[in-house]
Amino acid sequence: MQKIKGKFFCFLVTLIGLVCYAAAAMASVNIQDMRIGNQSDGARVVFDMDKKVNYRVFLLNNPKRVVVDLADSNINKLYTKVSNQIVAGTRVGKMDGNDKRVVMDLLRPATIKKVFFIEPQSGKPWRLVVDLLMSNENQFNAKIGNAYVVTNNTGFAPQEEKKESRWWKREPTNSDDAKRVGRKRIIVLDPGHGGKDPGAIGYSGTYEKNITLAMGRELQKILRNKGYTVYLTRDKDIFIPLRQRIKIAQNYKADLFMSIHADSAQNRQATGLSVYTLSDTASDQEAAALAERENKADIIGGVDLGGNSKEVNDILISLSQTDTRNKSSKYATYLVKEMSACVKLVKNTHRFAGFAVLKAPDIPAALLEMGYLSNRSEEASLRTTSYRNKLAHAAAKAIDRYFNDPEIASN
Ligand SMILES: [Zn+2]
Repeated sequence: MQKIKGKFFCFLVTLIGLVCYAAAAMASVNIQDMRIGNQSDGARVVFDMDKKVNYRVFLLNNPKRVVVDLADSNINKLYTKVSNQIVAGTRVGKMDGNDKRVVMDLLRPATIKKVFFIEPQSGKPWRLVVDLLMSNENQFNAKIGNAYVVTNNTGFAPQEEKKESRWWKREPTNSDDAKRVGRKRIIVLDPGHGGKDPGAIGYSGTYEKNITLAMGRELQKILRNKGYTVYLTRDKDIFIPLRQRIKIAQNYKADLFMSIHADSAQNRQATGLSVYTLSDTASDQEAAALAERENKADIIGGVDLGGNSKEVNDILISLSQTDTRNKSSKYATYLVKEMSACVKLVKNTHRFAGFAVLKAPDIPAALLEMGYLSNRSEEASLRTTSYRNKLAHAAAKAIDRYFNDPEIASN
């Protein structure tokens, strides 16, 4: 009995040992605390952590912010509001895997002065220090997107560096920038409605779902020829719940999502194209009503809009939302500009409304209403390949301009 007990004890110790070893080998970095303090020339941000983290730090504009990306880490504490002469507050977003993005919104222009580690001493853990320097608008502008990492100060031994090599541990060189710009961008096009949900029904009976699918396929072809990677949420006449459309874009890791629709109105005179991006509050009643109509697709399908609880959705949506919304707006602006050169637009072409299909928290997204199927001549136009082609080429041009925008290209 004693012998068995002894053996079992040995086994247990070995087992615990193995589990601990595995945990240690795989463990993420725990960011235990974060502090922001004033300095005479700026601010000091300190992250406490149980071991060194791979990081990158850079500036973004509109709104001005400092981004600190931390590889494979857990963040236990976060300050949404701080009282500091430079930093207004912080947000955390999830990136690939367990990588985290800490965003610090700035009250005024600042640049990154120095980033370095302090070793554990007198009971204090590893610390990553980011020093921010008060600067003027020009100095800030000169550094935007210039994602940089102070490699010399990371303190990684060369071997360790190799073993844990992550692209963002290095200071990007010009060739890195070129690579990033040249990287194949992924676009997900979302032909609205489908299957049992016909969408709007036109003056002479055209189904919105058929026009959106035709446009989706045509635009996909044009964009593929330009070298983009392009997927459709549906390439057939099938019903897909709205939430599922977002999931598809997320699964493809889309850089841009565009939902394609055609509207209808009681007033048969109504014509024109419009572009929508996400907002909590609609820009006007008409926009709100449209969002309600488009969102009904899920109710038609008998599917709850969620899948997630409201709380989870709210959290998901608020993560990195500001950044995504800015990008969405930027894209919408280019889209409106290119479209205005070739077709009639509605007044206030870029509008805001709460479309469920635009609620991916991490993917810039816009919804295109190509025109009114309820208007006899616009319905006739939208039925022709040549008219849709005109729209598709303008959209493709807008997409080019968007991805070549310096702020987007450096991301
Ligand atoms: Zn629609």
